[in-house]
Amino acid sequence: MKTLAKKDLAKVLNGWSRDYTVLCPNKKAHNEIMFDVFDEQRFTLDYTKPSMPPKSSFLPHSETVFMVDDNGYHPVIQETKTILFGIRACDMTGILQSKSFMTTDTDDVFYRSRWENTLTVVMACAGPQNETCFCTTTNSGPYARKGYDLQFYDVGESFLVEVGSETGSKLTIIEGFSDIDDSEALDKMHSFQQEADQSIERIPEFAQAMDRLANNGVSDDLWERFGNKCIVCGGCTFVCPTCTCFNVVDRQTADQEGERIRTWDACLYTGFTKEASGHNPRSSQGLRLKRRHEHKLRYFNDRDTHGALCTCVGCGRCSDYCPVHIGTIEVVKAIVKD
Ligand code: SF4
Ligand code: SF4
Repeated sequence: MKTLAKKDLAKVLNGWSRDYTVLCPNKKAHNEIMFDVFDEQRFTLDYTKPSMPPKSSFLPHSETVFMVDDNGYHPVIQETKTILFGIRACDMTGILQSKSFMTTDTDDVFYRSRWENTLTVVMACAGPQNETCFCTTTNSGPYARKGYDLQFYDVGESFLVEVGSETGSKLTIIEGFSDIDDSEALDKMHSFQQEADQSIERIPEFAQAMDRLANNGVSDDLWERFGNKCIVCGGCTFVCPTCTCFNVVDRQTADQEGERIRTWDACLYTGFTKEASGHNPRSSQGLRLKRRHEHKLRYFNDRDTHGALCTCVGCGRCSDYCPVHIGTIEVVKAIVKD
C-alpha cells in the first residue's frame, strides 16, 4: 500500500505525462466534466460520475480499422500508451465486461491493442455520485475489486493507493508516493470501503427481476408498453459502459484506395438487426428493448464478469439520460410490478 499527498498529485500526473497520454477529469465549458488529456489548469478532483463512461478509450465513436490499396490490407492498430486516471469502480467493471465480450469468442485485435496499452487508475467512491447510482446492487462498486492497476482512496489531505498490478507498481516509482504501514492503511481502507458500501442504496427488486427474466416470466405486453414510449434516440446505449454494438462502413478514399470505419451503433435502432432479405427478427421497439435488457440482466451473467452480478454495472446513466424513463432502474421496478 502507498500514500500520496494531494498537493503532489499534479506533479505525479505531469510525471506520468512524459511517458503516457494521461486522460483524467477536466472541467470543460458549463462545468461539464470530461475525461480528456491532463491539463493542469482544467484538471479537477471535484467531479462525480462523468456523463460518458471511458469506453471510447477502447472502442472510439468512430475509428478506421484498416485501409486497402494496391499493396494490400493495412490494419490500423493503436498502440498509444495511455493512463485512465480517476475512473469510477462501475466504469472499471464496465471496461472488464466489455473486454471480456470483445476478446473472448472473437479476438478483436483493435480493441485488444488499446486494452493492452492502457493502464487504469480507479478513484474509489466514498458514496453515491448521484441518486441513480446502484453499483452495490450489481456488485460492481463503490470500489473496484479487480482489473485496476492502481486504486486511489481519498482520505482527506492524502490518498491511500492500492496497487493492483506490476505495471501499477511501476507507476508509483515517481516522486510523491511513499510506503505506508500496511495494517494501519488496510484498516483505513476497509472502513472507507464499508462506509461507502453502506451509503449506496440497494434496489430490492433487482434480484427478482433477474429471476423473472431468466425464467421467461416477463410479458411481451410490458415490453410493448415501453416500446411505445421509446423515441429510439439510442442515448441509453451510448452512455452505457457495457454497450459495444458497432457498425462498419467501407469507403473509397482515393483511386484504388479505401478504408473500413467502424462506428458506434445501437441495438435499439430499427435497422440494427434487419437482414438483407428485409426480414427483421426484432420487428418492434418492444422486442428491441426486451433484447437490450436481457443482454444486461439475463445473458452473459455466467461469463468472466469479475465478481459483478450481470452485464449492467449499476452506473445509472440510462436512468439519468433516457428522456422517457426507460432506464434499467425503471425497467427492473416495472418487471417486478407487472
Ligand atoms: S444498463 Fe444502464 S445502469 Fe446498467 S451499466 Fe448500462 S447505462 Fe449503466
Ligand atoms: S434512451 Fe430511452 S428513448 Fe432513447 S433509445 Fe434508450 S430507451 Fe429509447
